[in-house]
Amino acid sequence: MALLLPTSTAGSLPKPSWLAEPEKLWSPWKLEGEPLLEAKQDALRLSLQEQVHAGIDIVSDGEQTRQHFVTTFIEYLDGVDFENRETVRIRNRYDASVPTVVGAVSRQKPVFVDDAKFLRAQTDKPIKWALPGPMTMIDTLYDNHYKSREKLAWEFAKILNQEARELEAAGVDIIQFDEPAFNVFFDDVNDWGVATLERAIEGLKCETAVHICYGYGIKANTDWKKTLGSEWRQYEEAFPKLQQSKIDIISLECQNSRVPMELIELIRGKKVMIGAIDVATHTIETPEEVANTLRKALQFVDADKLYPSTNCGMAPLPRQVAQDKLKALSLGTKIVRQELSNELK
Ligand SMILES: [Zn+2]
Repeated sequence: MALLLPTSTAGSLPKPSWLAEPEKLWSPWKLEGEPLLEAKQDALRLSLQEQVHAGIDIVSDGEQTRQHFVTTFIEYLDGVDFENRETVRIRNRYDASVPTVVGAVSRQKPVFVDDAKFLRAQTDKPIKWALPGPMTMIDTLYDNHYKSREKLAWEFAKILNQEARELEAAGVDIIQFDEPAFNVFFDDVNDWGVATLERAIEGLKCETAVHICYGYGIKANTDWKKTLGSEWRQYEEAFPKLQQSKIDIISLECQNSRVPMELIELIRGKKVMIGAIDVATHTIETPEEVANTLRKALQFVDADKLYPSTNCGMAPLPRQVAQDKLKALSLGTKIVRQELSNELK
């Protein structure tokens, strides 16, 4: 029988301080050229080892080779000028200086495929690889060429599909698209957001996931969360369409969030990555707290479809905190696995 409740992380993990300044988003690299390439691979190896040591079942690169989950991918594309910057509002939440789309976007060479091959060579465990989703990509740019969010999203979906097919060929088991923008632009999600995501996974035989969260534990996000009231029902907007979509797995923020767990009923039939670790606090969850969140989720997700995970990436956290949180995730999952196997006896 396959392992019940396989654990994973939503994405990024902290980088070692010799690679980039810790506890910071968009942290600049401390090395360059050949030494940087080597250092990134070393960090990837370490990150993998830390995940294995913590008992994580589906491992990742911890996003050690990228500076940021969206911009690093875009840096590899033609048609985007990183010198020519404009200030835009990200996810209606905070202003950021972003690159400009100045011409047709295209991918001349693979972005993460070598990194994925490297990870594949290091482990026999199932591996998950994260890419930004089309809607979140357009939300992190100023578009001076297509002048249509939807058109640009379709172009990015085509490019993401090229990358995803090569990641699959490199041996990636699950390809995940990060779409925090799905929690903000509800009309777009339903008009073309889910459709562009399906374009991005066209022809893939590996499993596919979409990660929808309330963001990293940075101030702009935690301030925004305070304005959302006592119940967070944002997921309700995208779930019906996602339930009908070809995406296999949906990754959600559940630990310490005010998302009513029963909303998950709307995606019944899908595999669900339940965020049981809060990335916006340094407090380490107890295994029992993790188990509690998983038990609540089990009311709405069949046990064979529940994947315990983290609320979001952990890049901005201190390394030891992230490591302890991963251990708590494993231990909490073990408790529930035991309960489930007792029920089957
Ligand atoms: Zn996230």
